[in-house]
Amino acid sequence: ETNLDIQKIRADFPILSQKVNGKPLVYFDNAATTQKPKQVINAITQYYEGYNANIHRGLHSLAEKATTAFEATRTTFQQFINAAESEEVIFTKGTTDSINLVATAYGRKFIQPGDEILVSGMEHHSNIVPWQMLCEEKGAILKVIPVHKDGAISIDEVKELITEKTKMVSVVFASNSLGTVNPVKEIAQLAHQAGAVMMIDGAQAASHCKVDVQDLDCDFFATSGHKMYGPTGSGILYGKRAILEKMNPYQGGGEMIKDVSFKKTTYNDIPYKFEAGTPNIADIVALKAAVEYINALGKENIVRHENEITAHAHKRLAEVPGINFYGTTENKVSVVSFTLDNVHPYDAGMMLDAKGIAVRTGHHCTQPLMDHFGIEGTIRASFSVYNTKEEIDFLAESLKDIVSKFS
Ligand code: PMP
Repeated sequence: ETNLDIQKIRADFPILSQKVNGKPLVYFDNAATTQKPKQVINAITQYYEGYNANIHRGLHSLAEKATTAFEATRTTFQQFINAAESEEVIFTKGTTDSINLVATAYGRKFIQPGDEILVSGMEHHSNIVPWQMLCEEKGAILKVIPVHKDGAISIDEVKELITEKTKMVSVVFASNSLGTVNPVKEIAQLAHQAGAVMMIDGAQAASHCKVDVQDLDCDFFATSGHKMYGPTGSGILYGKRAILEKMNPYQGGGEMIKDVSFKKTTYNDIPYKFEAGTPNIADIVALKAAVEYINALGKENIVRHENEITAHAHKRLAEVPGINFYGTTENKVSVVSFTLDNVHPYDAGMMLDAKGIAVRTGHHCTQPLMDHFGIEGTIRASFSVYNTKEEIDFLAESLKDIVSKFS
């Protein structure tokens, strides 16, 4: 049983107390984005009301206060993922931005014709398309680790797929579509043995898995603030110092330079070299509040509660006639993906919405994975710390009701 007071936690999230279509909101779309606690919302308001100013430039008091708050998120996030140095944490718009940064600033410089880039068959489009674009530009080859029926990959197949031509391996830590947790630490070891660089897409993992980038020994780790109770438009890229230092800049502009002249521009040190332009100061400041929120509850306590309700969901939803689960492997985060024999996912999604239940339907930005399973999409219920067994029971009963209307 959880040691968290879930009702007290729910009270931190103002959005949860509303009614949708006349019914209490049941929010099960956390793999798309989580809701925000008032601690995070307040941090945004306090910034704009109290010390809005551009950072790193002004000497005046507000600019100093804004810069201090912005940089405090960096050290808080450094500790959150156990990076060795705060300079290894780069602020981005989110995971998509972070992966594009690596594909551009690392890939354009170091990937050669004939090189191989390895991803898995369950990647989000944001961990496929940037590599495809790079492969097209460079004449490199994208290879794919196959996904098994239970939604897992096999480390033996990873071993076979990594060759002396592999230069980059980029794999999702936890799948947003299936919930599968991948053996990224073992994959990083294999990548390094072959002389390749390892990137982890941590968008779905950051608030649901223990993340220690030094223990994982990954070269890059990307995540999004909005999937861990933080604001949209805030994210990070972790990179090992030695690799970040030899990369090209991502975008050119203010902040990323040391000296500019029409003859020759020199670049700033990391992390600023990768942070051109005025960043999303307010949301990055508030990202600290999100990390502190998770830390205060204890990530291991959050995970225990999520595992409990996910097991409950698998048990209760199995009672629904004609249900098929995708992603049944043991090692998974709080995502339950399924189809119904006689009900199209969109019809199910709309009928659940009428009952106040928010789920996601469709391909979840993982079209190749859906193609692999021979389906158009799934219905996905994904859980966070504020979800309850009672909400899951209501989902199960609602699905039974929907199925009976269609049979
Ligand atoms: N990878 C995974 C596993 C995701 O779940 C997401 C977001 N759903 C992304 C990448 C992309 O993140 P963002 O849209 O925040 O850039």
